[in-house]
This record gives sequence, structure tokens and C-alpha cells, in this order.
Amino acid sequence: MAENGAAAYKAEPEKFARMARMNSWKRKKAAGLPIRRLGHIYPCEYRDRDGERGKGCKGRYKLTNPRRKFCENCSLLRKTNRSRERYRNITKAALREIIKTSTSEPPTREGSPSQQP
Ligand SMILES: [Zn+2]
Repeated sequence: MAENGAAAYKAEPEKFARMARMNSWKRKKAAGLPIRRLGHIYPCEYRDRDGERGKGCKGRYKLTNPRRKFCENCSLLRKTNRSRERYRNITKAALREIIKTSTSEPPTREGSPSQQP
């Protein structure tokens, strides 16, 4: 049975992908979750800290990827924000390590980003 299933899947992978999409769509509908369909136009959900739209926001985007939430310009903004956050976290962790390891000496400020509000 399992082998038959695997063989059937190998023969028509697209059909099974379509069935999986349909089933996930049905589950979402039954659970009352919002349904997002590929190729449709959705409003951009990117908002910065102040709740404003991003700079150069197109306002809407075509869903090409199920996880997509932002327009082209805002996804770029989002990426840069994330990388900045990651960098900040890494440097913070590094500083903490330095403080832990060198209890007698004050931590060196080399490599730390300038603290600007
Ligand atoms: Zn946008």
C-alpha cells in the first residue's frame, strides 16, 4: 500500500501537490483562517515602528510565495531591519561575554556600534 502510494506520487507529483493545496485550503476555511491565494493581489502589511508604511511602499503586492506579506520595496526594508537587529544582538552578546570574562578590567569598546537614539 505504501509502495503503491509512493509510486502514484512519483507518477503524478503535481496532482498530489494540488490535492495538498486543496486540503490545506479546506482546513483553513474550516478553521476560519484567512485564505491567501497565489497570484492574487493583497495589500502590503509592512508598518514601521510608528505604524507608518515603509518608504517607497507600493501599497499592494502579488502573492508569489505563501509566506509573503510585504511589497517588493518593503520586503527589502524588512530584510535590512532584521539584519541590523541581528548585528545588534550579536554585538550585545559579545559585549556581555567580554564583561563576564574580564571582571578585573573594564570592557573594551572596540567594534561596538555607536549608540545613537
Ligand atoms: Zn509595502
